[in-house]
Amino acid sequence: MAEEAFDVVVVGSCMTDLVSQAPRLPKAGETIHGHKFFIGFGGKGANQCIQAARLGVKTAMVCKVGKDFFGDNYIQNFKDNGVHTDFVGQTSDAATGAASITVNDAGENAIVIVAGANMLLGREELQKALPAISRAKVLVCQLEISPQTSLEALRMARDNKAKTIFNPAPAIPDLDPDFYKVSDVFCCNESEAELLTGSSVTNLEEAHRAGQELLKRGCGSVIITLGPQGSVVLKAQESTSKHVPVPAVTAVDTTGAGDSFIGALAFYMANYSTMPLEEMARRANQVAAVSVQAVGTQTSYPFRRNLPAELF
Ligand code: ADP
Repeated sequence: MAEEAFDVVVVGSCMTDLVSQAPRLPKAGETIHGHKFFIGFGGKGANQCIQAARLGVKTAMVCKVGKDFFGDNYIQNFKDNGVHTDFVGQTSDAATGAASITVNDAGENAIVIVAGANMLLGREELQKALPAISRAKVLVCQLEISPQTSLEALRMARDNKAKTIFNPAPAIPDLDPDFYKVSDVFCCNESEAELLTGSSVTNLEEAHRAGQELLKRGCGSVIITLGPQGSVVLKAQESTSKHVPVPAVTAVDTTGAGDSFIGALAFYMANYSTMPLEEMARRANQVAAVSVQAVGTQTSYPFRRNLPAELF
């Protein structure tokens, strides 16, 4: 079992989204009636893993959930999506990560995230997952778990010649500089690029400049995603910064689009080792563009069978 090889291993977070729709957001101390409630599967790590799995690669998730209903439910969700769950730990010391989200009729929201069990993912779980991490083609990490755990996972992957994708989300201002050095692809959105570089990233020109600044810090390549404008791709061995546009679509819900992009990128990196990174970004743009045309996070992520053959 431990000898099994995976194309994509994700070390990251799982969150249960508890979403209430109400006419307005409640004030402090107030109770109001909402008109709809639903539970969704989220967390950046899990989202990215599930998008990669839906495109048809062998994936394993390394994460921690609570020994509770939401944890059991999440493990079943991974299984339903064909994600390997031997490295999903369950703890009694914290609850499964949860995001309580209230959305008002204007589409504004108020969110409380309790990371819970996600923050207990550490060295012990990484050691258990080492056989999978060391044989992975691609390892993906974000920052919804302890940054130390992410950094250690990226180092383990690097030591074993796995390609690494690091998604510095949610961004933290004092990011350990070693994260850049262990990232084959450093992939973030505009607001994360802004926070990390301290410069505004509101147009293509600024995105190219921010990408160059991030690249200088030691990563192999940088991708900055730009919502309806697609992405920019910069590679350390080339001095060019390329804009990769995305076809125009009617977006209905962009939640989790960045995670769909990264899951797709991991899929392409694992499957097509000689494909240029710009072409992978062009295809990942198209996968993510499909996800914004449906409501929800994981519920909007396309399966391989729903996508045009030219993407494979
Ligand atoms: P995040 O979800 O992290 O904010 P972005 O908004 O940059 O990330 O979106 C990630 C990717 O999703 C984009 O690079 C693009 O490929 C796709 N995307 C997002 N919004 C749209 C949109 N309105 N139309 C088409 N594609 C989109």
